[in-house]
Amino acid sequence: MSEQQHQNFETLAIHAGQPADAQTGAVVTPIYQVSTYKQDGVGGLRGGYEYSRSANPTRTALEENLAALEGGRRGLAFASGLAAEDCLLRTVLKPGDHVVIPNDAYGGTFRLFAKVVERWGVRWSVADTSDPAAVRAALRPETRMIWVETPSNPLLGITDIAALADIARGADARLVVDNTFASPYLQQPLALGADVVVHSTTKYMGGHSDVVGGALVAAEAGLGEELAYHQNAMGAVAGPFDAWLVMRGIKTLAVRMDRHSDNAARVAELLSLHPKVTQVFYPGLPEHAGHDIAAKQMKRFGGMVSFRVAGGEEAAVEVCNRARLFTLGESLGGVESLIEHPGRMTHASVAGSALEVPADLVRLSVGIESVDDLLEDLRQALGA
Ligand SMILES: *Cc1c(COP(=O)(O)O)cnc(C)c1O
Repeated sequence: MSEQQHQNFETLAIHAGQPADAQTGAVVTPIYQVSTYKQDGVGGLRGGYEYSRSANPTRTALEENLAALEGGRRGLAFASGLAAEDCLLRTVLKPGDHVVIPNDAYGGTFRLFAKVVERWGVRWSVADTSDPAAVRAALRPETRMIWVETPSNPLLGITDIAALADIARGADARLVVDNTFASPYLQQPLALGADVVVHSTTKYMGGHSDVVGGALVAAEAGLGEELAYHQNAMGAVAGPFDAWLVMRGIKTLAVRMDRHSDNAARVAELLSLHPKVTQVFYPGLPEHAGHDIAAKQMKRFGGMVSFRVAGGEEAAVEVCNRARLFTLGESLGGVESLIEHPGRMTHASVAGSALEVPADLVRLSVGIESVDDLLEDLRQALGA
């Protein structure tokens, strides 16, 4: 590890946690598709492995890589982003605790708080986390966690991570940042004072729409140890092949994120000039409310763009249906471009709540195809 500390992101993405295989020299960490390990006498473990829920060498490689990329002390890989979130919540919260959650977030995160964790006595309230004063006002004596998603899903809201880290510290609460939209290449929340980073590795980390996974990275070893204990005790771990796919994706994360950012900037520009578009949500646009903070805490502005369509819900659904190169589908962060209607698709579960999204909203995950082809498809989908 010490020799890796001075290395840059692109190098760590390819090498951290993945020395050549000691026995064969294989330059890629093998898929250790195995559940149990031979012991050399009772308790004589080779390399600490005894059972693959507790630890598996392929998963270990990914977990060390994740910790290096986010600059944390401990990385943990899970079967999905929500499994990672569930493990975090059940590790650090207890009945009576209160959590501040954002008014714009992944629908499944909201559902986990509102429909699952609440039944176990954890209280939550919603705040506009892009406004530090609103977060301060939402604090209660029992607040133990502030949850942030930045850029947020699907409205691309920006939260000042350093400002919220100060608020959390003053309140004896932990700051959790869902870094799925940015990825550690574009944004490193732990360096800005966050305690834990959450990922759906299904998205940009995997990057090829071929795996579902999640991750936690803890800034401190103590919390990392507690999370690892619960990961094993609760059991929603990433399997070896899934861990391998995420690791393979991460090797190209930096080049993909640069191209996603290039293409999304061009898409946002086209949309902001289009007569059928009433509003564009992209933190790279100077008129975006969070632009200055995004410019301060992100390297680039990422690949997600949302926009509102003149003519309301039906017109927005029509644009989604007319798109050809942009594939109509949920999820995001893969090399291929996707289009969706959050109100009826990814965010259907927040309808009627404080997190409800505009009915005329369309969300794009801008891929790394030729940007000219992407712009052409959007022009035809929006109509003349
Ligand atoms: C997809 C997503 C999640 C949930 O991750 P899964 O891998 O689908 O369980 C959490 N947060 C954000 C921002 C997401 O986009």
